[in-house]
Amino acid sequence: MSCCTGTISAPHDLSRKIDADNKRLLNCTAVDVNQLWPLKYQWAWEHYINGCANNWLPSEVSMQKDIELWKSDTLSDAERLVIKRNLGFFSTGESLVGNNIVLAIFRHITNPEARQYLLRQAYEEAVHTHTFHYICESLALDGREVFNMYHEVDSIAGKDEFVMRLTRRVLEPDFTTATPEGIGEFIKNLVGFYVIMEGIFFYSGFVMILSLHRRNLMTGIGEQFQYILRDESIHLNFGIDLINAIKEENPHVWRADLQAEIVQMILDAVEYEVQYAESCLPDGILGLNKGLFREYVQYIADRRLERIGLPLHFGSSNPFKWMSETIDLGKEKNFFETRVTEYQSGGLLVW
Ligand code: FE
Ligand code: MN
Repeated sequence: MSCCTGTISAPHDLSRKIDADNKRLLNCTAVDVNQLWPLKYQWAWEHYINGCANNWLPSEVSMQKDIELWKSDTLSDAERLVIKRNLGFFSTGESLVGNNIVLAIFRHITNPEARQYLLRQAYEEAVHTHTFHYICESLALDGREVFNMYHEVDSIAGKDEFVMRLTRRVLEPDFTTATPEGIGEFIKNLVGFYVIMEGIFFYSGFVMILSLHRRNLMTGIGEQFQYILRDESIHLNFGIDLINAIKEENPHVWRADLQAEIVQMILDAVEYEVQYAESCLPDGILGLNKGLFREYVQYIADRRLERIGLPLHFGSSNPFKWMSETIDLGKEKNFFETRVTEYQSGGLLVW
């Protein structure tokens, strides 16, 4: 009886006992994917619990100050461009991530605790997409323009096409994780979405919007980006744990040629991201210019390479030290305002 694609085994079949050791992430045929207990991968369950502790909705954040500021003539054209481009990128980027989870990743993952997290993450991506709808509505922006930038703005289209190719590959009818090549392709999809999309492509945008927030500009959007960043940091951590565990389960796949391909993907991603930052900041704004972003994106890429066991490439340092303070909630006590912290349990406020 094959169970791992989701087939439900007959309830009277009592002879089957779950052995946690057999709960493989890919190509599990020995264990029923519908039975969460007993856990094999504690990390997957922990990411799920941490995600659940971070519930929030964009509509809980007041947009009143943002609306007044947006209507006034306080913001420069350069600042407006930064805001609009980032809304344009994230508004559809979140959907690409959600669709890839549901259509490409979920069906191939045969471990129930990892699936449990994927269900949680897919919901969070829906909340993130909701956020951009809410922002457009609040500021009375032309939503068609914002949500269509991924077709119309080259630097956004470039990043999105880069990851959409990886989704298409897994969706091809003959795709399978039954061969080492297929597992390699699947790992490339995970790297493309977790390490590159959520781990690199989102980060220039986080810096730009949070930098405006630090200057007390568009603080509603800034607060929403803080919540998204908090969610994304768990997505990234789950993805890295998933990639590393699949590598361990399939050591024959993690060969030098696959590693070289993945390094090249990350180097290409850095170029896409630097171009994107340049297109958002052609003339720079206070505290931000395109040169700093090359250094920052390289610094971030090194951190990601390190976490999946690949050698560092750039050796750049972090020009935005305040970003790591923003990520570390302990150092910025007012990072989250009252409403959402109220349904946080204190112990979970540390990322
Ligand atoms: Fe997201
Ligand atoms: Mn995400």
